[in-house]
Amino acid sequence: MTARIIDGKVIAADLRARVADEVARVKREHNLVPGLAVVLVGSDPASEVYVRSKHTQTQAAGMASFEHKLPADVSQADLLAVVAKLNRDPAVHGILVQLPLPKGLNTEAVINAIDPAKDVDGLHPNNAGRLAGGFEALSPCTPLGCIILTKSVHPSLEGMNAIVIGRSNLVGRPLVQLLLNENATVTIAHSRSRDLPGLVKQADLVYAAVGRPEMVRGDWLKPGATVIDVGINRIPKDDGKTRLVGDVAYQEALGIAGAVTPVPGGVGQMTVACLLVNTLRAACAIAGLPKPAVS
Ligand code: NDP
Repeated sequence: MTARIIDGKVIAADLRARVADEVARVKREHNLVPGLAVVLVGSDPASEVYVRSKHTQTQAAGMASFEHKLPADVSQADLLAVVAKLNRDPAVHGILVQLPLPKGLNTEAVINAIDPAKDVDGLHPNNAGRLAGGFEALSPCTPLGCIILTKSVHPSLEGMNAIVIGRSNLVGRPLVQLLLNENATVTIAHSRSRDLPGLVKQADLVYAAVGRPEMVRGDWLKPGATVIDVGINRIPKDDGKTRLVGDVAYQEALGIAGAVTPVPGGVGQMTVACLLVNTLRAACAIAGLPKPAVS
């Protein structure tokens, strides 16, 4: 048996198209143009690629895109002043400060300074707390993408056994909350968990968000499980270049899982698409409009 490959590229393109339709509708009916501001500090090449892609996709969805590039040696006060200005700007409905920030800047203080209503990365404690409490919240984009990919295989996750490997604020923890909201039974594993293969073996849904190349082996999986691989690991090739692999041994998983996301072409594709969803949601909420019919 070969697992079904969950095509993040196709699912993300479909989501972006639905966002674009809703953006056109709110423009037409309410004269509202959702706007996303991205703040990039320094010149980390990977961050620059992400920011460029966010800019292109935001514009393609019909939204306004604002970029703020600041030097790596910007002071904490000047960075906070940019965030405060964006908080006040009525054309900006979503604010994303690209992480990681250069050393010397206080990431937590910057996140805390973002207006929670515009916190489209879902990292502000208000949003994290609301999500943990089961209330309506802006949720982090990568976990949202993981849920959409899972639902492309299982429209209902009710009662399914899920394991989330990794407990970061960016991925693991919010993903656990979203799975609970879907009525899954969730195990959260991390570097101190005992018998990880044994825990994974019981799961119908496996989420790997660790950052260790191909750590999850095929023989850890329950036959037929759905595997969502969040990991993005760059490993050297013989020719001196690098290639991307996930946290799951993909070829092994193909022979045992029921469905699996590739790396690249899986979760990574969904993150920016979900950022657009969050920006549209934030714009509608700020304008007092009903929640848009895109998720
Ligand atoms: P973090 O480094 O913040 O967290 C990693 C987690 O993995 C920690 O909770 C850690 O446990 C756990 N862990 C580490 N080693 C082991 C182990 N041997 N066994 C079990 N658990 C372990 O990473 P992120 O959550 O930010 O990212 C995870 C991966 O996802 C990375 O590869 C990253 O590049 C990728 N990523 C992909 C995105 C996308 O768009 N596709 C977006 C964001 C991230 P502990 O807490 O005990 O230290």
